[in-house]
Amino acid sequence: MSNIYLDNAATTPVHPSVQEAMEPFLSQTFGNPSSIHRYGRLAKQAIEKAREQVAHAIGAEPAEIVFTSGGTEADNSALIGTVLANRDRGKHIVTTAIEHHAILHTCEFLEEMGCTVTYVAPEKDGIVSVERVIEAIREDTVLVSVMYANNETGAIQPVDTIAEICQEREIAFHTDAVQAVPVLPIDVKKEGFTLLSLSGHKLHGPKGVGALYVSRTAKWTPLLRGGSQERNRRAGTENLAAIVGLGVAMERIKENQNRTAQHLQMLRERMIAILREGIQEIIIHTPDCSIPSILSVAFPGVPADITLMNLDLQGVAASSGSACTAGSLEPSHVLLAMGIDPKIVRSSIRFSFSEQNTLEEVTEAARKTVEIINRLRK
Ligand code: PLP
Repeated sequence: MSNIYLDNAATTPVHPSVQEAMEPFLSQTFGNPSSIHRYGRLAKQAIEKAREQVAHAIGAEPAEIVFTSGGTEADNSALIGTVLANRDRGKHIVTTAIEHHAILHTCEFLEEMGCTVTYVAPEKDGIVSVERVIEAIREDTVLVSVMYANNETGAIQPVDTIAEICQEREIAFHTDAVQAVPVLPIDVKKEGFTLLSLSGHKLHGPKGVGALYVSRTAKWTPLLRGGSQERNRRAGTENLAAIVGLGVAMERIKENQNRTAQHLQMLRERMIAILREGIQEIIIHTPDCSIPSILSVAFPGVPADITLMNLDLQGVAASSGSACTAGSLEPSHVLLAMGIDPKIVRSSIRFSFSEQNTLEEVTEAARKTVEIINRLRK
């Protein structure tokens, strides 16, 4: 039985070239980047190279990149840091109901701290309307945070337009681009973002590393306090090897982006075609305007956990939604926010593809899914 991994929105395998680049920084060039001796200097140089690689990939200046422990920390720092730095102006945040929990739970924490948060619901297709975001903006709004692409449906949000409106009104705009950076060309300057989060392990880099882009013009204050690392913007000895890995992963992702996007599109189309042909009733939640790496689909009448267990027995790894809610029977907050019937939500699964998946694998996984759903429905 072949093993087919279709849960790349949860995490991706480290690419061999990334691993190779990281290895010397575990035991040979292991210095503390803050040390003034040779060991430290070499480590520091490696970090600055990675900073350039990350900055270059998203159109930022190296000085605007702050390395973090991943997407979650980048999201927490973006939100809490902006609210703290702007507290003389107001305490209102606008976000959406379909954000990752790294944003939603941070917003709940900020509410406990006295902020008010407006959670804009998406339209039926999972895309948030610009008008609704504008309506939610108030005099005392200091931050708007809208994800670039949703991690459950893949829906691409109108972040450029929203960022432009925020710029006109001098409100900080943050985007959680953890799922978008691996597959979409992004230019933070052209798109007018104040802050952007990204994560290493979603783009064939290592886990436990990410970055926050903080525009030079941002009014923002760091979350972690301590040493003067990251120009006083993120204290703590740097995760050297992982940062090197993130730099290389970002560089190669950007080099191959067009080709990868086409490949992912082809994989998803094949999956949809086989599912549609072989199964009587399926509902596709992923809208046309979406990143090609994600397919969210419901098989009414068959609970997602049963489908996933059967797929796993056949060597196919998929998921029922975001990694945080997988494993618990919580129905997806994203699909519920789209107004989908909870019964349908509970029968929904997510296939997510990467550059490493082949057409043969996806064809086999789709055929197995058809067989499983038809058998379970009987
Ligand atoms: N934001 C989004 C959209 C995600 O998909 C994830 C991970 O699933 C995160 C944030 C959290 O990133 P990390 O796992 O690097 O903390």
